[in-house]
Amino acid sequence: MSTTDVVAEVSAWLEANWDPDLTVAEWWERLGTSGWAVPSWPEEWFGKGLPRAEALRVAQAIADFGALAAPGGLGTLLAGPTIYSHGDDDQKRTYLRDIVTGKQAWCQLFSEPGAGSDLAGLNCKAEKDGDEWVVNGQKVWTSGGHWSDLGMLLARTDPDVPKHQGITWFAFDMHQPGVEVRPLKELTGQAIFNEVFLTDARVATASLIGGRNNGWAVANTTLGHERASLGSGGTTRGGSAVPGTIGGNLSRRAGDFAPTPAASTKGSGRSSGSRGGAMYDVIVGIAKGNGKSQDALVRQDLVRLYSLSEIGRVSAERVKAARAAGTDIAGMANIAKLSMSMIVRLTRDLGLRVVGNQGMLHGYDQAEREVVASATGNPFLNAVTNTALYAQAPPIYGGTDQIQRNIIGERVLGLPKEPGNERDTPFSQLPKNA
Ligand SMILES: Cc1cc2nc3c(=O)[nH]c(=O)nc-3n(C[C@H](O)[C@H](O)[C@H](O)COP(=O)(O)OP(=O)(O)OC[C@H]3O[C@@H](n4cnc5c(N)ncnc54)[C@H](O)[C@@H]3O)c2cc1C
Repeated sequence: MSTTDVVAEVSAWLEANWDPDLTVAEWWERLGTSGWAVPSWPEEWFGKGLPRAEALRVAQAIADFGALAAPGGLGTLLAGPTIYSHGDDDQKRTYLRDIVTGKQAWCQLFSEPGAGSDLAGLNCKAEKDGDEWVVNGQKVWTSGGHWSDLGMLLARTDPDVPKHQGITWFAFDMHQPGVEVRPLKELTGQAIFNEVFLTDARVATASLIGGRNNGWAVANTTLGHERASLGSGGTTRGGSAVPGTIGGNLSRRAGDFAPTPAASTKGSGRSSGSRGGAMYDVIVGIAKGNGKSQDALVRQDLVRLYSLSEIGRVSAERVKAARAAGTDIAGMANIAKLSMSMIVRLTRDLGLRVVGNQGMLHGYDQAEREVVASATGNPFLNAVTNTALYAQAPPIYGGTDQIQRNIIGERVLGLPKEPGNERDTPFSQLPKNA
């Protein structure tokens, strides 16, 4: 199918099927079972087998049409691809339909207080008890854990083998006694992620995905999809709704979540109206209004930000072209992640410089945001301070900047690996933090 065919085909399907008066659940049922919600997935499992670049064009076409986007979040992004790659047919039947139709939301129960960059050092354990496993441990930084029905759980199932070999990946039910989700408030005032405490929680052997003690390989599939999404060079700006039973959106009117024409970046396939990105536009607008656009150093950094965004866009196009030609460019996903970190830091510093001392004011909830906007006369100030406060996150999640550099050094440039005996020593005999 050519690009034009794909866009024409999904547009014709939308013409016949989009109805803003459907509930979100009804709309997602139609979209999810049509193959257009996750067109990069295999055809036999709710997709259309399209390359990633084509799938992004489909998402853009849905946004341009003004219809509510497919269910987002970690179900479609990570859990689904992991399960269709490693699950058996029963497991695919159990989980995939509810992901593409947004009936169930997922979170990623990977990181722990002592296991982030060193994920294979995780301590949360699952012990076999008949046809079930009993899970005890603590997870942290669990994005969306407070509105998730299921979790991608990594647990240690054999401590007496080297650490990468004793881990198992489970599809874990969050609705059960023994699961305590505690929100963590961020600098921005929001609470997107959580601590999750697991005490004698249970998971059936039927929910063990990809084989007992094979969780490291399965987790690498999950992480590969995470890296690919972070380095994919932009998403569409269509409407969205939190999926799952806890988010409370399934029974609401689909049209209320659909994008307005202005919010969709029609036809561009990019995430913002201008080449520099959405925050670039905001900062330029403020700088023009308060005279900072005449400051030589501000102008210099605006050009730097614009250039970095353009380099990111062109690099993403190079990767797409390479993939279309059946090759890949080693290390580009890691470089894209590093470049995103540079862009958010520069956006933070430049934005705060342009707004001046007003940057010390931040609205932590809607009421405060309105007070700040009316006191300063600047409705965009909160976008600047929110971006500045959130800028600490992208250099950490999905693998920190240092870890990206380690990967480029070891796997792309062929530098020696860090010395150690961790690959051979049983996990139970490794020295532990604390
Ligand atoms: C916004 C956000 C959302 C997240 N969402 C989730 C989620 O949904 N689910 C989930 O499981 N996790 C999530 N995480 C956790 C994230 O994956 C970890 O924070 C990340 O892997 C880093 O781990 P850590 O915080 O334990 O830091 P550490 O690994 O302790 O690192 C601390 C510092 O040491 C450096 N360092 C560590 N090891 C090395 C090394 N070998 N070489 C050089 N430097 C090193 C790091 O770069 C960092 O600067 C999220 C994090 C953020 C910020």
